[in-house]
Amino acid sequence: MVVRTNVGYTPVATFICESETTAHIAEALSIIKEWNLRWKPRFFMIDYSEPEYQALQDVFPEAHKYVCSFHREQAWIRWCREGKNQLTTDNQHHLLKMLRDIATANSKEKCDKGIHILRSSKLYASNNRVKAYTETRWLGICQRWCRAYALPGFNVSVTTNNGVEALNRTLKQFYLKLTTTNTVSSLAETLVLDFIPDQLMSYTRKNYAFSSQYKAYNPQVPAFLHDRPRAFVKHCLTKISAAAHYKSKDVQKVGENIFQVKSENSLQWYEVFLGDSKSFPKCQCAAFMENFMPCKHLFAIFAHSDATWNSLSPLYKNSAYFNLDLSFLSKEVQYKSCLRDDQEVGTGSPVQQEDETDISGEEASTCNRYIHSTQKCLREKLKVLQDLSFLSSDVDVMSNVISQLTLACAELEQTIPRESQLPLHQSGKKSALLSTASKKEKDEKGKTVKDDKQNRYNL
Ligand SMILES: [Zn+2]
Repeated sequence: MVVRTNVGYTPVATFICESETTAHIAEALSIIKEWNLRWKPRFFMIDYSEPEYQALQDVFPEAHKYVCSFHREQAWIRWCREGKNQLTTDNQHHLLKMLRDIATANSKEKCDKGIHILRSSKLYASNNRVKAYTETRWLGICQRWCRAYALPGFNVSVTTNNGVEALNRTLKQFYLKLTTTNTVSSLAETLVLDFIPDQLMSYTRKNYAFSSQYKAYNPQVPAFLHDRPRAFVKHCLTKISAAAHYKSKDVQKVGENIFQVKSENSLQWYEVFLGDSKSFPKCQCAAFMENFMPCKHLFAIFAHSDATWNSLSPLYKNSAYFNLDLSFLSKEVQYKSCLRDDQEVGTGSPVQQEDETDISGEEASTCNRYIHSTQKCLREKLKVLQDLSFLSSDVDVMSNVISQLTLACAELEQTIPRESQLPLHQSGKKSALLSTASKKEKDEKGKTVKDDKQNRYNL
């Protein structure tokens, strides 16, 4: 289970079912729910899976559940191309267009109209497969995939297409690691010791890297866009530049927090509501309906009225997607301060220290992963050895193994860092590892730091 954050997706829970039935998935979800009593998810995005949907419905009946548009689109295209469905290329395009029109309808009336057009089409009447597929698989559950049923705040576009790619990358890396594990216990160990901490570190690092504490912002970036996720800042800069064509006559105030903004390409005027303490902002333009991100009409209002970014509904401007996670930022700063105190890292220049600290996390994480996987491998061998020790009765062989193990223990003993004859605590080892990694990184990654700095300043 992953949660969409301000910098991508972060895994929050994993469960393994004996089989993917509603009952089994619901059981796992119930356990996760019990462990997180304050967690009240409002939205779930799922694949086209009835057991998944039903299990979520059982455990989180109040949450809205949507089929991921990326997977939905994939399913449609695949079905249209299947030879047994007997669709010509023109038919395929026609059916896809009708389905997409339903999916992107921004009101229930338009959704109903789209369904009516599909049911009245020659293709629907002449091809029983089309009829059966659309009726049994899609039209009966259009509230799960039609935009008209998506509530404000549910970022349809961002939560699907962009995110799925990132999610797939994460999962692929994860599965690569899993292929080296053989038991459920080692799988759990990989998840708890490697996967979740890695992902959390990545989240923290990105939030820190986008903050003004890491690098000063380009003076051309307006102050209200400082300390926000980079993708959001870039989006807003594009819209601000698109709004530059507007003149004051194109923006009219028509009520409390309500404006009319002229369309750039037609004679149409869009009504724009800035929202209030209970309601989300709204613009009638397609771009806003698509993803709920600030559109150029909002920025035209800010440029030609006394309204500013701060006039927007707090529900919107305080959205987790538009802000950095300061709680994790402060931890990152503490982490950086720790390294500053470490004499092995200190070079006397605070700027260099900042750069080193940020990238050292990546290298240290790789080293940690390698250490963890080797430790795990060793423990797995020991488990096998322990099991065999109960089964074997060959005294000679066992004596020989005991000698070899005594040597192995002595060898391992020598690798453990000690202070006054006492083994160093785990956290001490980690600190030393980070220091070494950052020192090594200093020269090798100099170019990367510079490039990143450049990227930062080019925002
Ligand atoms: Zn708009």
